[in-house]
Amino acid sequence: MPHYEPADSFETPRFTGIRTFMRLPYVTDLEGVDFAVIGTPFDTGASYRVGARFGPAAIRNASALQRPFNAAQKIRVYDHLSGVDYGDLPTVPGQIEESYRRIVAALTPIVLAGVTPVLLGGDHSVTLAHLRAVSKVHGPLALVHFDSHSDTWDSYFDFKYNHGTPFKRATEEGLLDPHHSIQIGMRGPLYDPEDLDVARNLGFEVIDGYELPQYSPEQLARKIRERVGDRPVFITFDVDFVDPAFAPGTGTSEIGGPSSRQALDYLRALGQLPGGPLKFVGCDVVEVLPAYDHAEVTALLAATVAFELITLLALAKAQAKQQAGQL
Ligand code: MN
Ligand code: MN
Repeated sequence: MPHYEPADSFETPRFTGIRTFMRLPYVTDLEGVDFAVIGTPFDTGASYRVGARFGPAAIRNASALQRPFNAAQKIRVYDHLSGVDYGDLPTVPGQIEESYRRIVAALTPIVLAGVTPVLLGGDHSVTLAHLRAVSKVHGPLALVHFDSHSDTWDSYFDFKYNHGTPFKRATEEGLLDPHHSIQIGMRGPLYDPEDLDVARNLGFEVIDGYELPQYSPEQLARKIRERVGDRPVFITFDVDFVDPAFAPGTGTSEIGGPSSRQALDYLRALGQLPGGPLKFVGCDVVEVLPAYDHAEVTALLAATVAFELITLLALAKAQAKQQAGQL
């Protein structure tokens, strides 16, 4: 059985070689693979700035700096996981529904093979296609959604598919269970007072950006655990969850959000849950728009978020091994 891990940066420096996520091998044969990092370079679902089609490339580029031992979580990730960079999913610029069809067709067999997808957007419209593929295999998902926007609008300009609507569509399509899903970080001006209630009326629990500072990372993690229970979890992380001072390279910034350190603390607390790890079946990191980035700060944040999510998988696997008495 093959085991895939990043290139050894003591043998070849980190700035060398063809860019893949974390210097993982580019492999599309899924035997022996626990997780696959996959790009979804599509951005014509965006309502304001476009350019997130270049997000996967920018995140891969910044990820070359990552090292394989997660010092915050004290785990050598690749002792527990075999991971690859699978490349990008097929998309058609400007054609959202056709892109959805192609993304779902390409992603479904990967999920069916038992591989956990770690997806790199793309604007947030791509998450609808990710959820279609993952829920086909795992059933209705419990969504954990970090974002400054709820993305539960009904339509824009009478059109149903764009980056402001994926979680309304996903709820209608039965891809997720809003009653076991949670949205975190929503902030910024809206159009009407009723806009605040749209997601809650769909069934989501919402911890908005004004309530969030009252939660410690541990309290937030417990809240998430209570909400999702033992259901299959999909984590979606829009980089505009983080304050634009730390994540300027994105399409629809909202000022006054968490710092990058706080965002990482929230994710890390999910690895230390008293009731054991979440049943985590997939994730994406979206809305990185490199043309507006400075010094790769947003891309590096997204790469680190992806690594923290991969670390959650490693922690879950380590814990399962421990329980099975193999350690
Ligand atoms: Mn979003
Ligand atoms: Mn957003």
